[in-house]
Amino acid sequence: MLDEKLQPIFDDVLRRNPGELEFHQAVREVLDSLGAVVAKHPHYAENALIERICEPERQIIFRVPWIDDAGKVQINRGFRVQFNSALGPFKGGLRFHPSVLVGTIKFLGFEQTFKNALTGMPIGGGKGGSDFDPKGRSEAEVMRFCQSFMTELARHLGEYTDVPAGDIGVGQREIGYMFGQYKRMTNRYESGVLTGKGLTWGGSRVRTEATGYGAVYFVQRMLQRRGEDFAGRKVVVSGAGNVAIYTIEKAQELGGKVIACSDSNGYVMDESGIDLALLREIKERKRGRVSDYAKARGKSATYVEGGSVWDVPTDIAMPSATQNELNGEDARKLVKNGVRAVGEGANMPCLPEAVRVFADAKVLFGPGKATNAGGVATSALEMQQNASRDSWTFEETEERLATIMHGIHDRCAQTAEEYGEPGNYVLGANIAGFIRVAEAMRALGVV
Ligand code: NDP
Repeated sequence: MLDEKLQPIFDDVLRRNPGELEFHQAVREVLDSLGAVVAKHPHYAENALIERICEPERQIIFRVPWIDDAGKVQINRGFRVQFNSALGPFKGGLRFHPSVLVGTIKFLGFEQTFKNALTGMPIGGGKGGSDFDPKGRSEAEVMRFCQSFMTELARHLGEYTDVPAGDIGVGQREIGYMFGQYKRMTNRYESGVLTGKGLTWGGSRVRTEATGYGAVYFVQRMLQRRGEDFAGRKVVVSGAGNVAIYTIEKAQELGGKVIACSDSNGYVMDESGIDLALLREIKERKRGRVSDYAKARGKSATYVEGGSVWDVPTDIAMPSATQNELNGEDARKLVKNGVRAVGEGANMPCLPEAVRVFADAKVLFGPGKATNAGGVATSALEMQQNASRDSWTFEETEERLATIMHGIHDRCAQTAEEYGEPGNYVLGANIAGFIRVAEAMRALGVV
C-alpha cells in the first residue's frame, strides 16, 4: 500500500500515461520508498514537488526518415525525454532497439534522474532513442540513420542543455556518426555535447568500461560489508553487450569465476570460465552471437537456445541485458541455488516480485540506479575533461570511478540505516537520489 499522500500522485501518473507499464513500474518503486520521507519531512510533499518530479520537463517525438541500401525509404520514430534539469543539463543515453516506445524512454529518463543525483555530480536526467534496429544493417545504413536522427535532435542539445550518450544498440560507432553530423550542422567542435566518444576525438578513458566496472565495484563493496569478496565466487552475467563484457572483465580481475552470459537468443555456460578475449572478438569486432562463442570455444562451453541464464547456479548474479529480464520464478531459483548477491548492471532488470524474493531471502541486492551509475558518472568525467580540454590517464580516471562508486554505495547504505532499514539499498538509493533532486527543485522555485 502506498502512503495516503502518495496514492493520488500515483493514480494521476497512471491516468496521464496510459499503457506505459514500465514507467508506472519505475514510478511505483520510487513512491514506495518515499512514504517514510514525507512522514519525516512533510515539506517534500508540498508545492506539488513529487508530482513535478514525475512529470518530464519536455518530451520530444520525431520522424526519422532514411534510405536503406536497396534505395527504399525507411521511417523510424525518434524520442528524447528531457526529464529533470534541476541539477544540471539533461544527461542520459540513447537506445536503438525495435522495442522502444515513449514509455520505455520515460521510465529510463525517470530512473536516470535519481541515478545522476546519486553520483553527486552536476547532471540532470534524460533519455532518448529510437525503434531503429541496428542488427543486420550495413555500416552505411547505420550512418545514414544516425545522421537523420541527429538532424532533428541537434536543435534540442548542447553542452549546457542536454548531453546524450550510448545505451542498448548505441556504442562508439553510433556516437561517432551522430557527433559528426552535429559538428557539421553547427560548425562547432562542441565535444561536451555527447559522451561515449572515441579516445582520439574527445572521449574519456574508462568510459567504455565504466558501467560494468562500476557495477562490480558496487557489489564488491556490498560483499565487503559481510566480510566477503569476489575471489573464488561463481558469477553469472546476463547480456553480452557493453555492460556485460566489462562486468565480466572486472569480476574476473577480482578473482571471480564468470561461468555464463547470454543474448536475446539464448545463453552460454562455460564451466572453465568465460574466455573474455574470445567473447570480445565475437561481440565487439564481428558483431556475432553468444552461440558463435560456444562454437568457437569448443568442449567447455554449452549453448542453450532460448534458455534462461538464471537456471545456472551461481553465487553472484549480475543482470546486465535489459529491463524485466529476471522474474519472481528466476529469483526463487537463484535463491534455491544459493545466490549471495545480485547487482543490477541493466536498468530495472528485476521485476518487483524478484526484488521482494531477494529481500525476503536476505540476498544482497544492488538496484540499477545505484549499481550501474558508473557509466553516467564517467560520462560526467568526460564532460569535465572536454570543458578543461584535458585528458586523464586510465589509472586516474578509474580511481575516480572507484571513489564515486564507493561513495554511492555508502550514501545508499547510510540512508537506508537512517530510515531504519539497514541493508535495503533500494530504499537507500531512492531516498538519497530523491532528496538531492528535491532540494535543488525547492531552491529553484516552481519552474
Ligand atoms: P548493448 O546493446 O551493448 O547490449 C545489450 C545486451 O543485452 C545484448 O547482449 C543484447 O542481446 C541483450 N538484450 C537487449 N535487449 C534484450 C531483450 N529485449 N531481451 C534479451 N536480451 C536483450 O547495451 P548495454 O550493455 O549498453 O546496456 C545493457 C543495459 O545496461 C541496459 O539496460 C542499459 O540501459 C543499461 N545501462 C547501460 C549503460 C552504458 O553505459 N552502456 C549505463 C547504465 C545502464 P542481443 O544482442 O541479442 O540484442
